Amino acid sequence: SLQGKTALVTGSTSGIGLGLAASLAAAGARVILNGFGDVEQAREQIARLGAQPGYHGADLSDPEQIADMMRYAEREFGGVDILVNNAGIQHVAPVDQFPVDKWNAIIAINLSSVFHTSRLALPGMRQRNWGRIINLASVHGLVASKDKSAYVAAKHGVVGLTKTLALETARTPITCNAICPGWVLTPLVQQQIDQRIAAGVEPLQARNDLLAEKQPSQEFVTPQQLGELALFLCSEAAVQVRGAAWNMDGGWLAQ
Ligand code: NAD
Repeated sequence: SLQGKTALVTGSTSGIGLGLAASLAAAGARVILNGFGDVEQAREQIARLGAQPGYHGADLSDPEQIADMMRYAEREFGGVDILVNNAGIQHVAPVDQFPVDKWNAIIAINLSSVFHTSRLALPGMRQRNWGRIINLASVHGLVASKDKSAYVAAKHGVVGLTKTLALETARTPITCNAICPGWVLTPLVQQQIDQRIAAGVEPLQARNDLLAEKQPSQEFVTPQQLGELALFLCSEAAVQVRGAAWNMDGGWLAQ
């Protein structure tokens, strides 16, 4: 049970982050949500599973707002025991047509924010002598796909940062690992299906094509399945899992 632990899940108003927050809340953790969009709906969903969650609306592209979120966690919850770095965005275009502002935003939100939350969470974890840092990377942290230069670069960066954090905490009860999902049907992926539909492909065909290109199971990974993996990484049995990049991808990386 995660009773008495506080979990901060970035980007947890939607998709995978909301699923991970639900799993952690159901296991007894106090949860702090972050992200945009339908915040109330996310809050209500988590409150039904456990305690009333906290919320901070930091824009993770801004280090100042991240620092403010970490101060809020310290002040209201006594610090972060489980840090889930999940917030992320995507943009799909070839390098020579890739908008520079999209590159900068993806590197800031998908990679640099992980550095900032981690550097600010670690002192408290060391003080309390327990911690879990779980980074939602991607199969794109280990292999590439065309037209995803910023995302692939950021996710490879997250896997590298995960390993460094694992080494720096290796002699402590703090662990740091990355989870590398294949396709999960969230708004981030629906957007890519919609691009195919806009290009004239039938909706069901667009969804099946996306799966068939990369994911041998031809089924989506679910946020609930990823939540179970996160719970395992939080458990005492996982204390020697350090610096892993753990894929859950319907066979994507087996090819
Ligand atoms: P999503 O779009 O459903 O959710 C993204 C979340 O991040 C939302 O809560 C959103 O409000 C928040 N967010 C976006 N920009 C933010 C910002 N600047 N500051 C704070 N919060 C911000 O996406 P998802 O598919 O659930 O993705 C979650 C993570 O999982 C991402 O890091 C993504 O790269 C990764 N991932 C997703 C898939 C997939 O197939 N969906 C696969 C592998 C990895």
